[in-house]
Amino acid sequence: MGTTAPRLDVLAPLSGWLVPLDSVPDPVFAGKMVGDGVSLDPTSGSLLAPVAGVVSNLHSAHHALTITTAEGVEVMVHIGIDTVMLKGEGFFPLVEQGQQVSAGQALIDFDIDQVGRNAASLLTQIIVTNGESVHSMQAAQGMVHAGRDVVLSLQLANGQAVAQRQDGEPKLSADIVIGNPAGLHARPAAVFASKAKSFSSDIQLLLADKEANAKSVVAVMGLATKLGDAVRIRAHGGDAAAAIAELTQLLNDRCGEKPGEAPQAPAEAPIAIQQQDNDKQLVGVGASPGIAIGRIVHHRLQEFDVPEQGKGGNIEQQSFARAAEEAAAQIELVKAQLSDPAKQAILSMHQELLQDPDLLALTYTGLAEGKSAGWAWRAAFSAYSARLEAQDNPLLRERANDIRDVGRRVLALLAGIKQAALELPAGSILIAEDLAPSDTAALDPSKVMGFCTRTGGATSHVAILARSLGIPAICGISQAALKLPEGRQVILNGSEGTLAIAPNAAELAAAEQEIARLAERRADEAKGSMQPAATRDGVRVDVVANIRNAADAREAVAKGAEGVGLLRSEFLFDNRDTAPTEAEQAAEYCAVAEALGKDRPLVVRTLDVGGDKPLSYLPLPKEDNPFLGLRGIRVSLDRPDLLRTQLRAILQAAPLTQLHIMFPMVASLEELRAAKAVLVEEQQSCGQHDVKVGIMVEVPSAAVLAARFAPEVDFFSIGTNDLTQYVLAMDRGHPQLAKQADALHPAVLNMIAMTCDGARAHGKWVGVCGGLASDERAAPLLVGMGVSELSVSTPAVASVKATLARWSLAECQQLANDVLALSTVTDVRHHLNQHAR
Ligand code: PEP
Ligand code: MG
Repeated sequence: MGTTAPRLDVLAPLSGWLVPLDSVPDPVFAGKMVGDGVSLDPTSGSLLAPVAGVVSNLHSAHHALTITTAEGVEVMVHIGIDTVMLKGEGFFPLVEQGQQVSAGQALIDFDIDQVGRNAASLLTQIIVTNGESVHSMQAAQGMVHAGRDVVLSLQLANGQAVAQRQDGEPKLSADIVIGNPAGLHARPAAVFASKAKSFSSDIQLLLADKEANAKSVVAVMGLATKLGDAVRIRAHGGDAAAAIAELTQLLNDRCGEKPGEAPQAPAEAPIAIQQQDNDKQLVGVGASPGIAIGRIVHHRLQEFDVPEQGKGGNIEQQSFARAAEEAAAQIELVKAQLSDPAKQAILSMHQELLQDPDLLALTYTGLAEGKSAGWAWRAAFSAYSARLEAQDNPLLRERANDIRDVGRRVLALLAGIKQAALELPAGSILIAEDLAPSDTAALDPSKVMGFCTRTGGATSHVAILARSLGIPAICGISQAALKLPEGRQVILNGSEGTLAIAPNAAELAAAEQEIARLAERRADEAKGSMQPAATRDGVRVDVVANIRNAADAREAVAKGAEGVGLLRSEFLFDNRDTAPTEAEQAAEYCAVAEALGKDRPLVVRTLDVGGDKPLSYLPLPKEDNPFLGLRGIRVSLDRPDLLRTQLRAILQAAPLTQLHIMFPMVASLEELRAAKAVLVEEQQSCGQHDVKVGIMVEVPSAAVLAARFAPEVDFFSIGTNDLTQYVLAMDRGHPQLAKQADALHPAVLNMIAMTCDGARAHGKWVGVCGGLASDERAAPLLVGMGVSELSVSTPAVASVKATLARWSLAECQQLANDVLALSTVTDVRHHLNQHAR
């Protein structure tokens, strides 16, 4: 049985002539980057609501607003082109954000003469910004009257989904035996749910008498499947047969999990813990190795107060959607600051949870019952985390912490509370019931010596993060730890999982000795950290740092960095409503330059956003393949106004340091030439010519054509993070592929060698600023290939310098020769490990 999809008519918000969107003289609208719709050349100056709904956004410059209809369609009306520049002059809003309006209601009055004189154009865009809510649209033509004529006829998408759900009988698969040693835990569950989402049918995973929404990671995990369980897939909809075939195949392939790759469940230790706890020590699961002596600091989670009753209408729905979106953006920001793919994968999973259909459905049920967004969301995520916590499988129990972490992030936004960052005194041993993975990622390892949590285990994300921070940790410690007096001195042994709660002098001395032995090596390295980096036979290599701002620059110099090989300038642009002005940018670039001084190099990368790194004030299209979309230099060339402002600001730092400007994501010579042409114009207008120009080599085409790029640049800097993902066609944050997206893959290494060869032929230098540069084992290999600058994370400066000092150039070259002949990552890693200390 078929049904007719619902329709929605969008009324003319102004009287005037309709114009096709693609003829609007603004590439952002004409290219439909904001969405599809129609434009109107107005003859009236009172903007009327084109649809009924809630004013979900009213721009602070009052020239644009968005109405979200009851069906969830977002209709934006944008008066004029570049009218944001008028900063509200000539616009008089008659409604407020969050207000319910009816179709035809007056929303904004504007002075058509004044705006017309001062704006680039009066053309007014009527756009559906969430295109996925619409199945098709038809735009009217010719003259229209405000509030009377229809300008867009929309056929809504959910009508189709309803029709599909009602078609035919559900289909059922045969029994499929789970082959994953740890069952469908987080990673395979995420792979399975994400595949299920690619089908429009309703799909359930069945285990005995239980069933789960196959598109929900939490629901699939919650099924608590085990190795050898027989499951079935039920699908209902137009593509049910294909869904069953492909998902069956995926389960038979263990959702891509290779033998030996499944995490080992930590020893089931609660009973043992109780037995071994005594008045000298508490025992938990060793989650991150190492020994630390420190004083106890308790961390207790903030409470968020949210009202039970909602404000009614769509208001709660809107605020929930905004908070979830903001939370996703916050996670993206944290992710962008991490170079470790394992940490990035954890945060990707958190983003996935924000879109989990079951979690959302439960939240919306609460909203429909009149609860506030915060109340409904808390009830939903608490129910899910409790469900996981009740599982036998410890791997699943630990994912409960991830749900709570994401849950609290959204809740804090809804409660309007800035989540307090963990402020710890130096020498702290942190004790907590639970540490959010995102809190752990932000811990300052110079202050926190180690931590213990009551929840979690060796495979929890908190433990993974502790290991990557290099601090010892214990999870699953007994309740007694939470009652230890603040400030008490303890010894934490993360290798053995013990917390000595009343150490005597002898025990403290022994622990100190062991800590000293490990520290000796680090100290040895640190001794040479302020020396110029060189190979054993005195060949200079610049060991410089990757930074985000002036504070990072100061820290880097203090730790021995010989300059900055990558200033990720996008951090200046994040978390704002408007682009930073030229003066704001120049102040930060100059502060960085001053921290470095005239003799050290500063490489400023121009804005590297777009695709997966959105900016709130820059309308960019939602893309199916953001990593292959409008990113890096492509955005700057598309928005030359942003590029020009940034270049002018960067050039102001030229007299203060050895300034280099670097363009990201360059794929073709045309892009380089276009960017350089803009730079030359700006240099001419400010008379500042003392700057070197280079590109990031992170797209394979740039590596392959290095010899042709080289005559037109002063230097290359290889971004191994992106180069690896583009050479191997593996998303750098993919939960399942992250481990294989290895920069030591022979194909990536050969691309690096190719870049060095191309540069050498034209006497240009090559740096590496991706994560591989910070890997001390890779340093001699890169130098052997011809890399002369390693831009590393600041903590790696000392160890990379110390490693280089042990190798002669000839040995580095021999190593490069040998490694470049190898065919697999395993062989490369094995070869490098033979040389590791
Ligand atoms: C890279 O891709 O290696 C790089 C350094 O750039 P980012 O990690 O900022 O994308
Ligand atoms: Mg990159």
